[in-house]
Amino acid sequence: MRSYSLIAPAKINLYLEILGDRSDGYHELVMVLQSIDLADRVDLRASSTDTIRVRCDYPDVPQDKSNLAHQAAQLMATQFPDAFAQYGGVEITIHKRIPVGAGLAGGSSNAAAVLVGLDLMWKLGLTQSEIQELAAQLGADVPFCIAGGTAIATGRGDQLSPLPSLDNLYLVLGKYRNVAVSTVWAYQTYRQQFGNSYVADSQSLESRASAVHSGPMVKAIIHEDGVQIGQRLYNDLERVVLPEYPQVLQLRQVFQNAGVLGTMMSGSGSTVFALCESYNNAQQVQQQVRAAIPDPNLDLWLAQFTSTGIQVASTSKN
Ligand code: ATP
Repeated sequence: MRSYSLIAPAKINLYLEILGDRSDGYHELVMVLQSIDLADRVDLRASSTDTIRVRCDYPDVPQDKSNLAHQAAQLMATQFPDAFAQYGGVEITIHKRIPVGAGLAGGSSNAAAVLVGLDLMWKLGLTQSEIQELAAQLGADVPFCIAGGTAIATGRGDQLSPLPSLDNLYLVLGKYRNVAVSTVWAYQTYRQQFGNSYVADSQSLESRASAVHSGPMVKAIIHEDGVQIGQRLYNDLERVVLPEYPQVLQLRQVFQNAGVLGTMMSGSGSTVFALCESYNNAQQVQQQVRAAIPDPNLDLWLAQFTSTGIQVASTSKN
């Protein structure tokens, strides 16, 4: 029996537009998603018991059944009971670097890593689309996390169209440790404030999504034009989060003044990222922001775009 160590990258939203309501309670979205090399490591080890266990010593990450990685393993055990019976339980250890409740899909990426890892460990030979179907049962962001890279996401965020990969852009991410935005709150508040502009019929939804497919952000990605990508960043959720969270707004302004290609909140926040054309430039921006906001609760990270999703870092015999 082998154990597997997987790399689970975070994602950012280069574009997030809310189009309307869905009957399942989610929103109709059109997004451009991008994997970055700020990543967790997820270790899977077969255990002699027939139980699923999750360990993670990062604050605010549950170690019980509510952990998305646990839910992913439970889904695999239910779908493939023979393999679960044959190979026994699994111990999942999450080495967390992606901040929690940050709009970076850390939990979703951990769940994606468990699906990919158990497929290998249990020798199931699932195709990518089979794994993505399971992923969609766990959460809207999980299918993207499997293959990663750059993609347009529609529906509730799980209908993916891959775009040419970008890996020559750098970013600085900032998040206050004491500021987490609830994703549910952000979408509900958006519905209350802007629901009257939602489109409802499928033709309008399709035409909004195809406007993004042929629009300036996607063109900028195809041309690998960092300046245009920076100028075309967009996130509807900023309209509700920034007025309520002055620290997030201030961080965004400080990034803007640091002469970056562009800056935007990721997902429902509270992370703000700034795009930079080089690693050196990103380092300078990090120093400038640190000097402008000397708050010890502000964490800053340097990262790079990546074209990969879940990857096996190493395997070993137990
Ligand atoms: P998204 O961008 O998908 O909205 P997020 O980055 O805002 O996600 P996560 O870091 O994935 O949010 O965590 C959201 C909540 O999920 C946390 O409050 C945490 O308690 C819970 N959670 C469950 N499993 C995990 C996990 N493996 N890693 C992080 N958080 C988890």
